[in-house]
Amino acid sequence: MFSISKAVAFIAFVGVALVLGWVALLQATQTEASDQTVAVPAPEVPINSFSYQGVEGGYQNHVENVATTIPEELLPAIKGLTFVNGCHPWTTSKLGKCALGTFDPAGWDVDDSVGHKWSNTIWVSTRAVTTGTTSDVVLHEAGHAFVHHFFDDCYFPRQAEKSVKELLVAHFAHDQAPPAELLADAFVVAYGNGEGRRHTYYLDKFNYSVSDDALAAVRAAVWLCSR
Ligand SMILES: [Zn+2]
Repeated sequence: MFSISKAVAFIAFVGVALVLGWVALLQATQTEASDQTVAVPAPEVPINSFSYQGVEGGYQNHVENVATTIPEELLPAIKGLTFVNGCHPWTTSKLGKCALGTFDPAGWDVDDSVGHKWSNTIWVSTRAVTTGTTSDVVLHEAGHAFVHHFFDDCYFPRQAEKSVKELLVAHFAHDQAPPAELLADAFVVAYGNGEGRRHTYYLDKFNYSVSDDALAAVRAAVWLCSR
């Protein structure tokens, strides 16, 4: 169906934020990454050391190594989180396919129950690794985690009537795109390093350009709210 010679990789990317009482599930579609040369690490022997359903495990060490490379400012977001190479059970069930990444603070299972042993995890699929998007998926999910852990009870000076989370979600309000996903992609833009095209599925899908003011607000919020 698609010509490999055109070096077109279609990547379904779903970032899912699962928060107590608030579940955002976004539709996977496709995005284009052209002419990318992806250095795919050699797979390890898959070991499901977590004994969770959905674990792939062939790139567990790679995912953990990439997670250690996120900028220092974001480290508070992933403190206490476990990175899992695999397909999150609830997300996979809702999408009918394996998402590139999932942040799950509550341990969601396929029957919509919470409290399972994979609470406080970030899942990064093997597909994210083999398509060269691991670091951007990690940043996107770390963005969700940062918002979840730090932005609810944090206030910009002289804007005490609304939390930082409310203000940023309002800033990213969109008639079609989920603002939480645009915000998580803004973390990728704000904190991604290196050359090359970033994997920002929602920004691309909705042709959304994050303003310099919005990036400054995200960075300021990260600085302020993790103190
Ligand atoms: Zn997301």
